[in-house]
Amino acid sequence: MRETVQQEIKVCDFCESKENVFNTCSICGKDICYKCHKTGGVTFHQSCFYSGSGDGCYCDMCLAENANDELILAYRKIVTLGTERDAYYKDFEVRHTVAEKAIKAIRGRKGL
Ligand SMILES: [Zn+2]
Ligand SMILES: [Zn+2]
Repeated sequence: MRETVQQEIKVCDFCESKENVFNTCSICGKDICYKCHKTGGVTFHQSCFYSGSGDGCYCDMCLAENANDELILAYRKIVTLGTERDAYYKDFEVRHTVAEKAIKAIRGRKGL
């Protein structure tokens, strides 16, 4: 059996692609496909540890025009903290690896 259905699909407002249109600019409401989002859009996460419905997606034009918007500045703070966290974990990883190797070496020297 076949049935004809009417289906509404999202179309990218930037390249008119009908594929992978997952993002919508929070300000202008334009739909953005995966490809255009990579080159002309940003999605800010609401937290350093998770993402979800509180995230904010912006096309580059709206981002440039609203650079001092308090919400965008708040999202940018999360980006900065995320970078800080990554640097901390990288540093921590180096230091705990050195400490663990030292224990291995000392135990080896003591014949343990
Ligand atoms: Zn597109
Ligand atoms: Zn926009």
